[in-house]
Amino acid sequence: MSTPGKPGKLGEILLATSLITQEQLTKAIAAQGQTGKRLGQVLVEQGSATEDDVAWALSNQLMYPYIFLSGDIIDDEVVRLLPEEFLRERHVMPIHKFGQQVTLAMADPTDQLTVDEVAGQTGLQVNRAVALASNIEEMLRNLNTRGNGSPRRHVRAAEAQYLQFHLAQALQQAATEIYFDPTIEGQPRVRYRLQGVLVDRAGHPEELHAGVIRQLRDLAGLGQASTSQAAATVRVGEVEAHAVVSVLATTVGPAATVALYPYRTGAPDLVPLGVDGQTTQALRRSLHGPHGALLIGCADPFVRMTLIRAILPGASEGKIWSLETLPIYRDSAVSQVVVGSPQEAVPLLHGACGTGADLIAIDDASRAPTLVSALEWSRVRHLVIGHPQDDVVGLLGQALEAVGGAVTASTLRAVLAARPIRLLCPECKERLRGSGAGDGRLTFTPRGCAACSFTGFRGYRVLTEAWHVSPGDRLQLRAGPRDAIFAHVGQVVGAFMRTQGQALVEDGLTSLEELSRVVEGA
Ligand SMILES: [Zn+2]
Repeated sequence: MSTPGKPGKLGEILLATSLITQEQLTKAIAAQGQTGKRLGQVLVEQGSATEDDVAWALSNQLMYPYIFLSGDIIDDEVVRLLPEEFLRERHVMPIHKFGQQVTLAMADPTDQLTVDEVAGQTGLQVNRAVALASNIEEMLRNLNTRGNGSPRRHVRAAEAQYLQFHLAQALQQAATEIYFDPTIEGQPRVRYRLQGVLVDRAGHPEELHAGVIRQLRDLAGLGQASTSQAAATVRVGEVEAHAVVSVLATTVGPAATVALYPYRTGAPDLVPLGVDGQTTQALRRSLHGPHGALLIGCADPFVRMTLIRAILPGASEGKIWSLETLPIYRDSAVSQVVVGSPQEAVPLLHGACGTGADLIAIDDASRAPTLVSALEWSRVRHLVIGHPQDDVVGLLGQALEAVGGAVTASTLRAVLAARPIRLLCPECKERLRGSGAGDGRLTFTPRGCAACSFTGFRGYRVLTEAWHVSPGDRLQLRAGPRDAIFAHVGQVVGAFMRTQGQALVEDGLTSLEELSRVVEGA
């Protein structure tokens, strides 16, 4: 235990990650001196930090796995290696043993004295893991009430609980993906994608990994194929999310990825994303003729769906159908049709267009037959067509490739290309060294703190370029040559994304590095 009066390693880490203030630490150390309690516990009791904050900061900074304890992942025999009184006093729990190594779940893994004592008493090498103090206490309370029945009986429940724990954590932290990866060393890795950054989140015992994969296969209704993907709805408390589960065979065993998209209601608002009302209105108006197509290009399927759904309601007074591979927006103004597999897109398009809908949207026309069908239908209907290509010239090239100059000229009304750019976390962004010297402009770089999940970024904007096809453009599209059209369009939309990105850099909202990553693809 750390000596009262000195901050110790835990205090330093919490200070360095801006999780607590110096004032809160001083107060906690004083209280710690009087009560002899652990520093983390005192901070939680004083309301300076949550238990989860403390555990997460520790696991992120020290790279110890963060373990959620449940009755069935703990080996009873291993728990009995140490006196119960000692476990209660130190807030630790040995959970499993492989060869000469024991894994010790600890509320404070910086407590070196306890690690040494456990090594001395057991004669084993101690691997530390971080666990919530309340989670350890709960396990200790249940120690004596655990029945003599087969411990395997509840294994399935433990797997489900463990998966649910990760889904809840990931949704709470706005993670977009969870990765469950086996490793050569044995201890599987769990990582979350937070603000586009992969963050190590929690290790779990090797034997639980197969169970998690099994749970995910069940959840998404995947068979036993070694490589497969399917979508499912997951529910955590009040929150419902669309989850795309992928299972991949690797040389060391199956790996799984869960992409998470919480469901939203109503039409999305693009203003917080940096797309002003005028742009949105102009795109809607481009569809006010007798028929025609609006192409929306963005590599990120979620952002693409958001843009499409924001434009739809104002673009038509009539019946709107939306064919979606990512059905996350729920809006009574739009008839939503789920596209389960890429092969279904064309027949579904024929169906929707054939029933006489006034406006039809499709979020993913990346397959050539889908793009051809969508552009062909826009000779007699209004269509909003989503595509992963994210630059205007490239999108125009896709259309010309699919249906040629004549159909493109008669159908295409406008093209919107969009790329998400991440915004710096305002709480921890750092001034870049040497910035502001010459032209007085400051530039910033991400650092990472608890507020941004140690990624340095919080939220994003979209950089856009839009091209509205003029009568002159139409003539040129019909006549060709294509190089001349591409050069002309490039000139019209050129440097637009860069200009928007530079404005964000100048306002200190994003970094130069992020700008070149997004615009140059660096
Ligand atoms: Zn931050």
